[in-house]
Amino acid sequence: MDLPGTISFNASGHLQVGNCDVVELARTFGTPLYIYDEKGIRQKCREYHHALAANYQDYKVLYASKAFSSLAIYRLMEQEGLGLDVVSGGELYTALAANFPPEKIYFHGNNKSIEELNLALSAGVGYFVVDNPWELENLAQLAAGRKTRVKILLRLTPGIEVHTHHYIQTGQLDSKFGISLAGGAAMAVVKRALALPRIELVGIHCHIGSQVFTSESFRHAAGKMVEFMAAVKKETGQQLAELNLGGGLAIIYTETDKPEPVASFIKGITDAVKDACARYNLPLPTVVVEPGRSLVGEAGLAVYRVGAIKEIPGVRTYASIDGGMADNPRPALYQARYRALVANKANAPREQKYTIAGKCCESGDILIQDIDLPRIVPGDLIAVLASGAYQYAMASNYNRLPRPAVITVANGRAEIIIRRETYSDLLRYDRIPPSWAEKDILPAVM
Ligand SMILES: *Cc1c(COP(=O)(O)O)cnc(C)c1O
Repeated sequence: MDLPGTISFNASGHLQVGNCDVVELARTFGTPLYIYDEKGIRQKCREYHHALAANYQDYKVLYASKAFSSLAIYRLMEQEGLGLDVVSGGELYTALAANFPPEKIYFHGNNKSIEELNLALSAGVGYFVVDNPWELENLAQLAAGRKTRVKILLRLTPGIEVHTHHYIQTGQLDSKFGISLAGGAAMAVVKRALALPRIELVGIHCHIGSQVFTSESFRHAAGKMVEFMAAVKKETGQQLAELNLGGGLAIIYTETDKPEPVASFIKGITDAVKDACARYNLPLPTVVVEPGRSLVGEAGLAVYRVGAIKEIPGVRTYASIDGGMADNPRPALYQARYRALVANKANAPREQKYTIAGKCCESGDILIQDIDLPRIVPGDLIAVLASGAYQYAMASNYNRLPRPAVITVANGRAEIIIRRETYSDLLRYDRIPPSWAEKDILPAVM
């Protein structure tokens, strides 16, 4: 099996990552455990930088931090010279707490509250990616109140359907996100933005979907966006400086996934921008890409300990683990598929079919259906590959399961970046109304 980053097998038949033995890590930090391969993430960041630098003059790479948001990942992304996407006040707050430079932050979201807009304005966030006319008016008013000017991009929906699960398609006409290119909606909002003195329209944005395997749809989107930039120039005289083409490049979850490599993906979209600009006689804009999944997904490993094993003769064998949909809702949410290894038997032949079940009280809490693994017994460790994106970020406390610990590993060294939740953490926000003291209990008969 082809393993990403520094993930490999060691001499004792254990899985290792960042030169740390995964069996040891599970013993030290407990399970479920999320492990990030630091080198793996940094390599991906550099792949994007190199590919863009090789193909295009003026570019930016942003990390779409909803894939995995934490103080440590924000620090790492800043060290790698990336800008940042945030989609909520909470992500913004975390980025600011990590001292991420606010001028390199892009604030996304289809329903930013006034509080969130104010937080971002106070912090000096670099760019607002305005999703709709309501937000544009709110932002203009708040900026006027502060006697300041804000830079915005408009999020447009280019009307492109990509081949991915419909829950993660975002660029089609029927989407909750953005302003439609079709029917003149986008041009009307552009004109409104240009008329607002507190608003500086620097560019346009689109994000067509996630886990997209080829650059084809992106090239198509780039063409449509440049065509629109040409129309804006013709109708208003305004030359837009930035073209943000979103994120969405797929990663390898199972053997059948064959995503285009970063280098050819970037070459594809930058060529499309150059071609379209030549066609419409436009100067080249700054190209912005904002990958999330492809930066952190394959560098993440989720490690679980096996407990109960239930064999239903002639039907299937369930192996239950100590996590599941509470720390990874993706299989339940959109039938996500994974490959996995037994971390303490990494070299053993895969001779039995299992279904890996989570421990939540839902029949749909199945992490992996029908996977061939070495024969397993209670206490074995299941390592699920490509667990770095949209897993811990989506984790909940369903069934009052404490959220797992998250660690990074590199050069034989492991560091906690998010500590495991405790039972007492689960009670942090709970309260029994004092008026429910026994003497005040409502009469039993209503
Ligand atoms: C989610 C998102 C991204 C990142 O998508 P990935 O598939 O994780 O690369 C980029 N831009 C926007 C606006 C997003 O919502």
